[in-house]
Parts: sequence; C-alpha cells; structure tokens
Amino acid sequence: MAKIEAAYSRIFKEVFVCKRCGAKIKAQSRKVAEGKVRCRKCKSTALRPKSKKTSKG
Ligand SMILES: [Zn+2]
Repeated sequence: MAKIEAAYSRIFKEVFVCKRCGAKIKAQSRKVAEGKVRCRKCKSTALRPKSKKTSKG
C-alpha cells in the first residue's frame, strides 16, 4: 500500500531531519524529493523523513 502513503505525503506536510546538522524542517515531501527544500542552518538538501511509518513494528 505504498500508494496510500505517497498520497498522504503529497497532501500533508511532513517533518524532515537534515542529515548534516540534524535540524528539523517542515516541508512537503514532494518538494524535498525535488530538492527544492533546503536546511535553514547549513543549506543542505540532504533531508530524511523523521517519521517512519512501517507495517512491521
Ligand atoms: Zn542542516
């Protein structure tokens, strides 16, 4: 059911964490994937989603 998660991430803004400095950034996952979102602190575009939703717990 990856499509549902993708749809959710398209609609709602998610929290991402900068891989370089660990800063939290609220942004749309679509924009992050396109590289349009930058970290405020270090200007890095290397971001990872903070909330991992996995079926296996
Ligand atoms: Zn950063």
